[in-house]
Amino acid sequence: MDIIEAYKFCPICGQANWQKEQHSMQCQNCGYKIYLNPCIGGVAVILDEQGRLLVVRRSKDPAKGTWHLPGGFVEVGETIEQAIEREVQEELNIKVRAEEYLFSIPNRYQYKGIERYPLDFFFRCKIVDMTELNIDLSENTDYAFLSPAEINIEEFGLPSIREGIRRYLKK
Ligand SMILES: [Zn+2]
Repeated sequence: MDIIEAYKFCPICGQANWQKEQHSMQCQNCGYKIYLNPCIGGVAVILDEQGRLLVVRRSKDPAKGTWHLPGGFVEVGETIEQAIEREVQEELNIKVRAEEYLFSIPNRYQYKGIERYPLDFFFRCKIVDMTELNIDLSENTDYAFLSPAEINIEEFGLPSIREGIRRYLKK
């Protein structure tokens, strides 16, 4: 179920009197409207000098234990580039610059039984400083630099990341 089905009571007036549409619902008591919007995810495509792709192994669900690309959700007030640079720093202690927008892919997964709809923006990133690379184990258990020949799409767990890897390999 998505968030529109999960909300029972209006957060403004506390009534349970919703008019539900496909991507929104409106409280019939106070008029407050909730939209089903995607949240924005930033995904880092980081290549080393040999052209190998930096991948990380997820330590948490969804898709725990599968390969993934560094990145995360954009916080309020951030650009997508800033979010990617911050997330890469947090996850791997690497400084990167998000240089080039590549493409966006809608994602979908469940968190505590609720459907989430991130829209993932992929950016090619330049490594600025990797000398203190150090993985944050609360987010990922492992990392690797993989050459195109070493990449197996099936080992990437989240559908949008898998599709992003497929497009990256085509280039
Ligand atoms: Zn209301």
